[in-house]
Amino acid sequence: MILKERSEVNKITTNLSIAELRASLKGRVIVPGDADYDEARMVFSGTIDSRPAVIVRVANTDDISRVVSLAHETGLELAIRSGGHSGAGHGVCEGGIVLDLADMRALEIDVKGRTAWAETGLTAGEYTAAVGAHGLATGFGDTGSVGIGGITLGGGIGFLSRKYGMTIDSLLAAEVVTADGQLVYADANTNPDLFWAVRGGGGNFGVASRFKFQLVEVDMVVGGMLILPATADVIADFVAAAEAAPEELSTIANVMIAPPMPFLPPEAHGKLIVMALIVYAGDTEAGERALAPFRAIATPIADMLHPMHYPELFPPEQAGYHPKAAARMLFVNDIERSVAETILDHLKASKASMAVTQIRVLGGAISRVPADATAFAHRTSRIMMSVAAMYQDSAENAIHEAWVTNLASILQQNDSGTYVNFLGDEGEARVRAAYPGQTWERLTAIKTRYDPTNLFRLNQNIPPVGD
Ligand SMILES: Cc1cc2nc3c(=O)[nH]c(=O)nc-3n(C[C@H](O)[C@H](O)[C@H](O)COP(=O)(O)OP(=O)(O)OC[C@H]3O[C@@H](n4cnc5c(N)ncnc54)[C@H](O)[C@@H]3O)c2cc1C
Repeated sequence: MILKERSEVNKITTNLSIAELRASLKGRVIVPGDADYDEARMVFSGTIDSRPAVIVRVANTDDISRVVSLAHETGLELAIRSGGHSGAGHGVCEGGIVLDLADMRALEIDVKGRTAWAETGLTAGEYTAAVGAHGLATGFGDTGSVGIGGITLGGGIGFLSRKYGMTIDSLLAAEVVTADGQLVYADANTNPDLFWAVRGGGGNFGVASRFKFQLVEVDMVVGGMLILPATADVIADFVAAAEAAPEELSTIANVMIAPPMPFLPPEAHGKLIVMALIVYAGDTEAGERALAPFRAIATPIADMLHPMHYPELFPPEQAGYHPKAAARMLFVNDIERSVAETILDHLKASKASMAVTQIRVLGGAISRVPADATAFAHRTSRIMMSVAAMYQDSAENAIHEAWVTNLASILQQNDSGTYVNFLGDEGEARVRAAYPGQTWERLTAIKTRYDPTNLFRLNQNIPPVGD
């Protein structure tokens, strides 16, 4: 079989056969017709159904270089995939090449030195479980199946961020295969421009094959789920408690209509709830004290907070879960009672099978890093909010897109920034909003140096100068 497809833009063609491609790589090549093609092309988002010409499960950096060259030679679009959770579905493409890192999962843990080198095919959950066996951790997000590739390159905000900063604040070095096929090492001293850019600038600068992370001692935490009845007062009080809490404590509060979940009493089903994930990463007794203000906000519908090993926060996930969702994120300064009322009114009016407004109070170590120290510049943004609508029928997409866009615009205060890891396919202006002011100028200059032809363009794209 011949890779016949040609880019209309780039007329370079190749006579490379799939047999030759297979012979030139250590990793697996999957093409339409192969038994696992349909599974291999699937990404987390259920709204994406793209059929790439070829999927390469790379085995090493030579394979990555080969696939990067293939993209050059053929002009085919190149998708880079770690965990496949991009909301825009950038982990797959129509008719192009998917470079899938899932088989590159080596992890070298230096327990004494408190560092780990991790290949980017690992998921956050796999990494967390492996280093957690030593009572150590690096903070990622709230979901184990997210790839360390995408979350790290975009920033990484999760349960340990208020105490230890974002994932990029624990990144010590990266190895990146750039557009010329070379493997480039970057840290604070070597190629510092690239190192700055990959800490928030996404997959624009090359294929990250490995990251070196700082590990911190996080063994037992107190945390889990606390479910409260959602009223405007409860939401406002919850946010105030989260802001007043010690930095060891992080919260992710999902305001939503309660689905019929087994751990909820039947009388709560269909009612507005705050389903909060709360984690205190520190001493258990101090944790219980820090949790008390949250338990006192209202009589909990369910209180599942308890001491646990940190990796238990990332339980196995439902296989084959590919939700269709519309989502918008924004940063806000405060959530007063009137804002909470608006959220509740709109949730009640949504036609989605599940509509959620997620609230994460930031601050702490995130805000102590200067805005220009990494490509993530929103260091002083106080609260991250996501408005999301999950639905079953693709035909309803426009209704839910309109609902999330409308609610996000109503909730918008004076922080116009956005977080690149929570962007969908939302257009150039939203990518610019992720990289305000000087950050954008620096990123485009570094992009021009490392990827002048914009080979890595299937992402939240930062084009090279003149493109
Ligand atoms: C259920 C869910 C929960 C989430 N929770 C959080 C959270 O708590 N905190 C948070 O900060 N984010 C969270 N996110 C957002 C998540 O961080 C981003 O969607 C991230 O991009 C996903 O990374 P991935 O590797 O799984 O996705 P992929 O789709 O594989 O990758 C996303 C993009 O990143 C780039 N990329 C990935 N790996 C590489 C690589 N090795 N080299 C070069 N480029 C690469 C590519 O451009 C790719 O298109 C969540 C997303 C979902 C769906």
